[in-house]
Parts: sequence; C-alpha cells; structure tokens
Amino acid sequence: MLVLISFAIKYFIQQRVEVQASHDYLTGLFNRNYFDALLKKQRNESNRNNQNIAIMLCDIDHFKIINDTYGHDAGDRVLKAIAETFMVTSRASDTIIRFGGEEFLIIASYHDTDDLMKYADRIRMSIENSKILDITATISIGIATCHHSATVNEIIKRADIALYTAKQNGRNQVILYDNIKK
Ligand code: GH3
Ligand code: MG
Ligand code: MG
Repeated sequence: MLVLISFAIKYFIQQRVEVQASHDYLTGLFNRNYFDALLKKQRNESNRNNQNIAIMLCDIDHFKIINDTYGHDAGDRVLKAIAETFMVTSRASDTIIRFGGEEFLIIASYHDTDDLMKYADRIRMSIENSKILDITATISIGIATCHHSATVNEIIKRADIALYTAKQNGRNQVILYDNIKK
C-alpha cells in the first residue's frame, strides 16, 4: 500500500513539473520552450488532413502605455484576459503560445489564405471589442505561411517582418508576409 502511495505521489509531482516546464504561469498557455515540438506535431497532423500551416505572431499595441497608465498589475490582468480571448476565439486544433512578454504566437491550420486572413481578423476584432477593466487593448498580427522548404527560423523571421509592417501601417491590423511588396 505504501509503495503504491509513493508511486502515485511521484507520478503526481512529475506531471506538475512537466506542466510547469511547458506552460506559462500567468496565462496558463504553452510557453516558448515547446514551440519547435508543437510546430512539428501540428505540421504532421495537418499533412494528414491535407491542410496547410501558418504562424500568427500577435503583439499587443502600445502595451507599455497600458502599464504606465494603469499599473503593472492591471497590465497582467489585460495579458490574462487577452490569453482567454485567444483560447475562446481560436480553433480547438490550433496551438496558442505565450511567445514573449506581450507577444503571443498561434500555430494555425488552414485551407486557403483568404480564410486564414478572415480568421486572424476575427481574433483581432474580438480583442478590440472586449473591454478589460475598462481598458481597450488592440493587437497587431503578422502571419507567415509555413512552406515545406522553410526553416523554423525563416518562418519566424517572416512573421516578424509582417508584424513590423502591421505596426508601421498604424497597428490594430493583420498583415500576411506573402502580401508585402518586396
Ligand atoms: P508596440 O505597439 O510597438 O508593440 O509598443 P509596446 O509598448 O507594446 O512595445 P514595447 O516593446 O515598447 O513594450 C512592451 C511592454 O510590455 C514593456 C514591458 O514592460 C511589458 N511587459 C512585458 N511582459 C509583461 C508582463 O508579464 N506583465 C506586464 N504587466 N507587462 C509586461
Ligand atoms: Mg513586443
Ligand atoms: Mg507591443
């Protein structure tokens, strides 16, 4: 009996350690450590379902001003509420990661880029329309499609360029890397 209990406790602790290593404490989302593994897993699943994969890099607009105006704790609550909106608005098959301080990354499966853009815009609008502690926050989204030949670093770089373009164009918008005039 004692052996059984000690096994159960060990198992429980191991599970907790694994969840803590892979998840962000504040939002409960996956953290960046597992990005490569999660991307690989979703790439395999989409290949099986004849779907494509894209990454959507989402960054809160002027978050520094939100912190400076309402305080760091309110900023944390905004981060949590935005994470919840991502969870409610995204598809069950997609993966959401807290990628950095106020940056989130969604690995999204899609059939065509028109649908992908509409999906990203729905997420953007749902955040714009949800008031958190009377604070209106908006996000900018940069999207890169995952072509088979591209490396993970190349895909992230493209999403980053698209996000930068969204910020330059006035924020609170979605930009697809493939649509940027080069
Ligand atoms: P931009 O629209 O260009 O993205 O402007 P920004 O102010 O959002 O960007 P900037 O990179 O200047 O500032 C990001 C801020 O996010 C600064 C940092 O203090 C804040 N931040 C990062 N992580 C956290 C966190 O966990 N909690 C809180 N409250 N703030 C955070
Ligand atoms: Mg940022
Ligand atoms: Mg920001």
